[in-house]
Amino acid sequence: MAQVLFLGGLGRSGTTLVERLLGELPGMCALGEIVHLWQRDIRDDERCGCGVRFSACEFWQQVGERAFGGWDNVDVDRVHALRESVERTRHIPRLATATAATAGVREYAAFYSRVYSAAAEVAGARVVIDSSKHSALAHVLRWGEDIDLRVVHVVRDPRGVAYSWTKTVVRPETDGADEMTRYSPGRSALLWNAHNAAFGLLARRGVPVRRIRYEEFLADPRAGLIRLADFAGVPLHPGDLDFLRPDHATLRAGHSAAGNPMRFTVGGLPLRHDDAWVHALPRSQRRLVGAVCGPMLRAYGYPITVASEAR
Ligand SMILES: [Zn+2]
Repeated sequence: MAQVLFLGGLGRSGTTLVERLLGELPGMCALGEIVHLWQRDIRDDERCGCGVRFSACEFWQQVGERAFGGWDNVDVDRVHALRESVERTRHIPRLATATAATAGVREYAAFYSRVYSAAAEVAGARVVIDSSKHSALAHVLRWGEDIDLRVVHVVRDPRGVAYSWTKTVVRPETDGADEMTRYSPGRSALLWNAHNAAFGLLARRGVPVRRIRYEEFLADPRAGLIRLADFAGVPLHPGDLDFLRPDHATLRAGHSAAGNPMRFTVGGLPLRHDDAWVHALPRSQRRLVGAVCGPMLRAYGYPITVASEAR
């Protein structure tokens, strides 16, 4: 049975940074966003976190062999069809109230569990990390027969998230041909509510869910990693956190299949809190997001109004 640490939350909440740091711990192997593996890697042959094309990455070729007898044997159209029928946000209420998994849910989850098990074997890892983020996928994986699922729910101040979604970011794995999606602040605020609520629901269904606030994690990554390693059941030894310095982490190359451009970082990764949004996100938009997300902001311990606009 594959032990999986699933990093969940709305995009731009810091899951990639948390994944990169966790991936440095012994016994853990960070896989990136497996939800995108099927299209972006198997089909489009985009770049692995190690820098080479997916088809040229030794790690992923071994995983494909073990999991499916080679990636050519994966019916990507079938994965897409299953995803459409079971893994959309609109399916969450049904997934959360079901008392048994449908055949489609089981079949879809099995694609993931084969990747997880093979990756754990190839890497010699106790735990694999999937930073797919999507709450609907976490609800599907709860039904995976060979998956021991634990979820780290990463929450970030929705005004910081909203600001990040307004910025233009090029996807380096496509050599500049494609940009990451953008959302208006109102849209990202609604998504923030929906996705975070979905992880709360998952916890109420009995899945082990550990919620972390990204800002707190960045303020003391050492303490944060010790807590998450404990949650994942991975013992730490003296020296395991030596890659952490007060203001940066030193990273090795990883084999992240897909995700935020930070997955390509090797060497020093700054551990600075990015609060540019406090000044850069217009006041009207800060207030809009604060109003839309008010109840959950309060529940998570965030201020409703931010310092720069308080009187
Ligand atoms: Zn690779």
